[in-house]
Amino acid sequence: MNNADPRHHSQLFMTPDTPTLLSCITVICLLFGSYFIFSEPSHNTRERRFWFASPFLAGGISGIFFTVPSILPGLWRLRIGAIFMLLAYGAGWQAIRITIGHRPKAAKILIPCAVSLSLSALAGIIGSVHILSSFCRALVITGFNACALYELQKKTTEKTHAENILWNLLIVYTVLNALIVPFVPWLPAPFGAKGTTIWSVTAYNFMTIIEVTVVALALIAIPRERLAALHHKLTLQDPLTGAGNRRALKEWVTLNYINKKPIVLLVLDIDHFKSINDACGHATGDKVIIAVKSVCEQILPKPSSFFRIGGEEFIAVFPYTTVHDALTTGHKIRQEFTKRSTNFVGQNIEVTLSIGGAIRLSSGTPWLTLLDSADAALYTAKREGRNRIIIAPDSEAPLTAEAC
Ligand code: GH3
Ligand code: MG
Ligand code: MG
Repeated sequence: MNNADPRHHSQLFMTPDTPTLLSCITVICLLFGSYFIFSEPSHNTRERRFWFASPFLAGGISGIFFTVPSILPGLWRLRIGAIFMLLAYGAGWQAIRITIGHRPKAAKILIPCAVSLSLSALAGIIGSVHILSSFCRALVITGFNACALYELQKKTTEKTHAENILWNLLIVYTVLNALIVPFVPWLPAPFGAKGTTIWSVTAYNFMTIIEVTVVALALIAIPRERLAALHHKLTLQDPLTGAGNRRALKEWVTLNYINKKPIVLLVLDIDHFKSINDACGHATGDKVIIAVKSVCEQILPKPSSFFRIGGEEFIAVFPYTTVHDALTTGHKIRQEFTKRSTNFVGQNIEVTLSIGGAIRLSSGTPWLTLLDSADAALYTAKREGRNRIIIAPDSEAPLTAEAC
């Protein structure tokens, strides 16, 4: 066989064959569908399993109708295959709705599918009703893709990595499908109303394989990414007050401390807290601890960061303006805290707060040095009678007599 032999060329450029392509997509869809029904651990209710499996199972059933000629006589095989394909797109939209926390709306997919089925029941293999039916199908697919895109777009919380990938895929597919709609009368099936060509079937199947795979992987990844984000958040949060814990403080220092802006660091400690616990019980003690958080949230200037670093010890960091401002903030926190905690412990016990502060004007001072200064100031405040704020005398800002 020489190079001029046409058989040589046909070996180099193998023509794709439709049944093989359709079988591949059918198997992929059925595998993903089975995975969502039987193996996906994050979809723990029957309803969730149904909706996550349904786009892939509907796609698989559609593939079976297109692949197996003996399944139904005449045009009905293609009509049913096409309607399952539409259902797959619609169910995909509902699965995406569920991942972002909405309820599924079956009617919104069944009505367009019923309209499309009615039109295709009236249509032959050519003619104006056939064109209208193909047009309707293309429009419904575009609509379902666009609706899924819209749901992801209006999601208020930050998108996970997989949600971003899904969102980008949906943009591309919605635009491609929308571009196809006006050309339906002239495009070969499955894109349009003309007879199929091997290349139209091949292109359509490749598009479908990419969409099915990306959507399935995204639906698997999104709940895991959410769980990982939630776990990360919980590891940084003090469960009693909701403030950042020691780990969060460490992360804050790594990410923000190199910032050159002048800052005030306050270390706050409830006075004689042990005796409050002893006198009023731990539940009341807990309320007093929570009061520190809510008072600081209300009084600290914005932006500020607040952490609970021990039983009744807290750290607040906020931008420096003047020493007077820093002292005023500390005094307001003390006064408001005493006022508020009287509600829990009663008039006969005064709950007070001691605060040690340190000010950093340049980025030169290491974090631990600043913390040591604020800690030393706190112990001075305790020694000198508690219920006061003292700014460390070695702070970088010029201190007045009222500060230390
Ligand atoms: P000082 O004025 O010197 O700070 O004395 P203090 O009693 O406040 O300090 P001490 O360190 O002796 O006691 C702190 C107490 O805080 C001891 C512990 O039982 C209590 N504590 C720690 N964590 C919690 C908590 O989550 N809830 C409650 N109710 N109490 C806690
Ligand atoms: Mg204390
Ligand atoms: Mg303490």
